[in-house]
Amino acid sequence: MSSQLRRVHLIATGGTIASKATSKTAVVGYAGYAPSAFSISDLLEAVPGAEQTAQLSAEQMFRKQSVEITDQDMVRIGRRIQEVLDRDEADGVVLVMGTDTIEEVSYFLHLTLKTLCPVVVVGAMRPAGVISSDGPLNLLNAIRVAAAPQSRDQGVLVVMNDHIMCARDVMKASSCKVESFSGGYYGVVGTVRNGVVTFFYRTTRPFGLTSRFSLDLPDVLPRVDNIYLYQGCGADVMKAVLQLEPEALVIGGFGNGALHNDMRDYYREHKGEKLPILVRACRAPYGGSFGDYGHFDEELGCFPAGDMLPSKIRILMKLILTQTHDLEEIKSIFAAY
Ligand code: ASP
Repeated sequence: MSSQLRRVHLIATGGTIASKATSKTAVVGYAGYAPSAFSISDLLEAVPGAEQTAQLSAEQMFRKQSVEITDQDMVRIGRRIQEVLDRDEADGVVLVMGTDTIEEVSYFLHLTLKTLCPVVVVGAMRPAGVISSDGPLNLLNAIRVAAAPQSRDQGVLVVMNDHIMCARDVMKASSCKVESFSGGYYGVVGTVRNGVVTFFYRTTRPFGLTSRFSLDLPDVLPRVDNIYLYQGCGADVMKAVLQLEPEALVIGGFGNGALHNDMRDYYREHKGEKLPILVRACRAPYGGSFGDYGHFDEELGCFPAGDMLPSKIRILMKLILTQTHDLEEIKSIFAAY
């Protein structure tokens, strides 16, 4: 094909997009389903026009459902993308993965990759080969976005269901719908309509070259755990998680990120002991956690994390803890990111 085409490198890791269902009509439901059964070359064969859209190269990094992706895997993916782009082997990269942890992996890459080149993350809600599988079109659209000059310097983008979302804000909002992914509170940043890539918005928050983070990271990332609060959830669950010795605990709290009174009391009683930093997030998907709910932040050394989802807050916190444990500095990073 023409050398005018931009070069797009695909890195495949498995997921529903590469999975084989038990029948052509088994679009949801996983009994007997073969996870990550198909390779990236199998997937590309099902995408008409891929070779005319970009000059493609591809690698199969591993085959995992995305819930199995470890911190080490995330770093490995990031370093490989960085290597491909630093060596000028591609103009853009597409990461093909399971959708369950796209929220985390895409945000990790958004914060750590040092590049202006387009990096696009894509998956599918329906297995390969079933009736109305969304995989082939999602993959083609991801290649289109990775090949589009207007995608440069937009950070890591997630392309699903004809929408382009910023990795900072992207959320998986449905377990089974094709229209599962959204930009949450802030919406999508662009669309792929009939093959045409159009951007409407861009994030003002740091990423890539303007981010203070990179892939120069320790072998083991700091441990940060999340807890989702619920009616009747006192301090017991928190105490159980503390046994794991996290450096920070992201609480998906009630309302505006409120903790249960017992949790506050536990922190009060154990003041001065080595306790993880409490990050007050919000179990509601929209709105976030702002302000000093109950005037105990200063007393307990915790803070409201702002508008991001707990999944994103955890990733940001892990990266922050590789650089600082100073609470005031951590708060200012959250305010900026
Ligand atoms: N369990 C799958 C995964 O995250 C779901 C998906 O790909 O949609 O790998």
